[in-house]
Amino acid sequence: TDAPGTSTGPAHPSDRIDTSVAHPARRYNYLLGGKDNFQADRDSGDAMAAAFPTIRTAALENRRFLKRTVGYLAREAGVRQFLDIGTGIPTADNTHEVAQAADPQARVVYVDNDPIVLAHARALLTSSPEGATAYIDADLRDPEKILRHPDLLRTIDLGQPVALMLVAILHFLPDPDDPYAVVRRLLDALPPGSYLAASHATYDHLPEQVAQESRVATRTGSSRDVISLRSREEFAGFFAGLELVDPGIASIAQWRAEREPQPRPSVVDVSMYGAVARKP
Ligand code: SAH
Repeated sequence: TDAPGTSTGPAHPSDRIDTSVAHPARRYNYLLGGKDNFQADRDSGDAMAAAFPTIRTAALENRRFLKRTVGYLAREAGVRQFLDIGTGIPTADNTHEVAQAADPQARVVYVDNDPIVLAHARALLTSSPEGATAYIDADLRDPEKILRHPDLLRTIDLGQPVALMLVAILHFLPDPDDPYAVVRRLLDALPPGSYLAASHATYDHLPEQVAQESRVATRTGSSRDVISLRSREEFAGFFAGLELVDPGIASIAQWRAEREPQPRPSVVDVSMYGAVARKP
């Protein structure tokens, strides 16, 4: 690393990667069976699994939910533009791959605030020639930066419908970060016919003790890394003013999962809600 004062430009993402504390993107990668994670992430994932033993099932099911929602939006709802905030480390079935399999012209803007995702962003910039993808290093809590970013404005047309993807990210915003206002601001910038797709961890199906232990387990390592589990009603609040697509708010294991391998994991084992809704 450079000595103070000798740096000539923005820090390389690898200089910003702190391996001493757990990060959500790397822990999720670990839970999905990936290799882009460090000891602190594995320790945090193992601590969560000790409190909530089916967490790997939940992570895999969340990824399936993401794939099904993008498939639904691209194939059935006819959406051609996606704003995927909280992208995660690239893995199988990234949003642009699923969307462009349905329509090669699909355009996707990815956003994440973790430098490790930035370091892997090249794998997200593999658009079909007919479509486009972009990656923006930004924080969900700064919607203005996202909405005004030149790479966003170059890639998607905010005059045409956009699917806002907030999959397994909103539970990283505690209430003081005002996640409802953040989502409202983003949706306000999108035209009628746009969609919100989201999933969110919940304690609704967990015995209070497990919910409590899960909250504590997520705190190991890093103070910013606290998961704000929310109830069904709290999750529904993100969709206020929107028209929920059938089947409405459901377990991520159940949402339009008829063609998934059966039997589906239980609602308790995944403990996450998902939904897709249209802006009228
Ligand atoms: N959406 C993907 C990845 C979920 S993991 C999927 O469902 O498969 C959650 C991601 O959200 C991580 O990559 C993490 O870095 C990112 N994230 C968490 N808080 C964020 C914030 N405030 N701003 C931007 N990204 C955030």
